[in-house]
Amino acid sequence: MPVSLTIYDGAGTIGGNKILLEDGGTAVFFDFGTPFSTRARYYEEFLAPRSRTGLLDLIHMGLLPPLRGIYRADLEDAGGRAWERARRYPYYRECRADAVLLSHAHMDHCGYISFLDTGIPVVSTCLTAYLAKAIQDCGAHQFEGEMCYAVPKVAGEEGTIGAGGHKDFPFERRTYLIADGVCRDPDDFWNLSPAAPRGRYFPSQTLQAADQVGGLPVRFLPVDHSIYGAAAIAVETSAGWVVYTGDLRRHGGRRGLTEAFVKEAAALKPVALVSEGTNIGKEPGATEEQVRDACYAAVRDAPGQFVVADFGPRNVERLLIFLEIARRTGRRLAVTDKDAYLLTAMHAVDASIPTPRTDRHLVVYRRALLKPAQWVERVREWYPEQVDAAAVHAAPGEFICCLSYFDVAELVDIDPKGGRWIYSASEAHSEEQQFELRRLGNWIDQFRLTPIGLAETATPYHASGHISGRELRELIYQIAPRHVIPVHTETPQRFAESLLGDMDVHVPEVGIPITLG
Ligand SMILES: [Zn+2]
Repeated sequence: MPVSLTIYDGAGTIGGNKILLEDGGTAVFFDFGTPFSTRARYYEEFLAPRSRTGLLDLIHMGLLPPLRGIYRADLEDAGGRAWERARRYPYYRECRADAVLLSHAHMDHCGYISFLDTGIPVVSTCLTAYLAKAIQDCGAHQFEGEMCYAVPKVAGEEGTIGAGGHKDFPFERRTYLIADGVCRDPDDFWNLSPAAPRGRYFPSQTLQAADQVGGLPVRFLPVDHSIYGAAAIAVETSAGWVVYTGDLRRHGGRRGLTEAFVKEAAALKPVALVSEGTNIGKEPGATEEQVRDACYAAVRDAPGQFVVADFGPRNVERLLIFLEIARRTGRRLAVTDKDAYLLTAMHAVDASIPTPRTDRHLVVYRRALLKPAQWVERVREWYPEQVDAAAVHAAPGEFICCLSYFDVAELVDIDPKGGRWIYSASEAHSEEQQFELRRLGNWIDQFRLTPIGLAETATPYHASGHISGRELRELIYQIAPRHVIPVHTETPQRFAESLLGDMDVHVPEVGIPITLG
């Protein structure tokens, strides 16, 4: 049997990677993410795939590949319509999987693990596993966010399916196998129940380590990206090593990880490199050091004033940069309860990650809530000393407030007397994001804040999570694989132009196997 790679999502598009590697009887996926751009073609916030039809909407609308045999049986609709529709796709097939090898905890790489049979293990770094659990615990993605544990579904009225009663149906936990060593986790965060007391039962689970799947040796090689725990993945097949970059960059605070990865990957003399190419058409932009300096100056020059730091969700590197700025400017970093929860999860894996308990410059901003969710209650228990809107209003110069677009209504409670909103996040990549940025600008105007870095183009207040075209070209030459398969890019053909025929570039087509050898 030849070794093959089949791209089921992530071909000619950014996000949603689902890459099947097959060697003899072994089949593994690199990532299984949410395809945000395809999803946005049909759906938005108030028009989402219907959970009551299980797999049907997702398969029919092309959000999930029509692969029979890998999905949760409890999500099959009673009439069997999902598989009847799936047969319309030319690349419909029966399929099995030994594991998902997960590169990092961004939703466009891990989100749709939610729909996979819970018997298929996920292999990842320890930090990625804990981040995935923390993201799910905070519950933003619901039906499309069951990466670590699932609410079992049962048949309902009129051919629908719905959540099984919480007394009879405990959570079903997915197996995570840890590629870089199981952490100590003194407070057992991994087994912290997401349910309220007397709610659905959350069975305990012991994490196991793994260095092979289905008989194939596997290595996770840490890389620098805009989320901690990110890794490239190498699998030794019968045709040689196949290396998948995941998402990476060479201009972040941990760029040394990427450099070490390049050396290790080159030493494997890989037969194939599956490479991300988000920024293949872009020149290098700001580095994290430049961002740090620009943001520091923006805070330093506003003594006594209200300051907001607005950065992407789960971008803990940026959060730590602002924590350092808070220290240098004599302020405290007021983080949202969600950020505090995330830091707590990461601290369980890596004690050097600060929490509001270990770092006196870190404090939780307390939102006034009618009925706090279970995870918010926990954050309040863990960190009882919090600051509320009135405290920020009274002493704006003592804090840097970490707020983002979806927290913007807090401005009404804080009622600041001027100040700065530092936008330290990605420029708009879609029309919808442009609308959001404009709306954010309106809020900033309404409260007479000075916007810093709020532009529809790149600014020195944000560094991309992805490697630039020039640096990527260099990286590919350094690793020198026989075959290059571009994914996670809108312009895969640019790889061929960039590599000038020195390597075999396969511009992938969805569902068409690429044979290696
Ligand atoms: Zn990513």
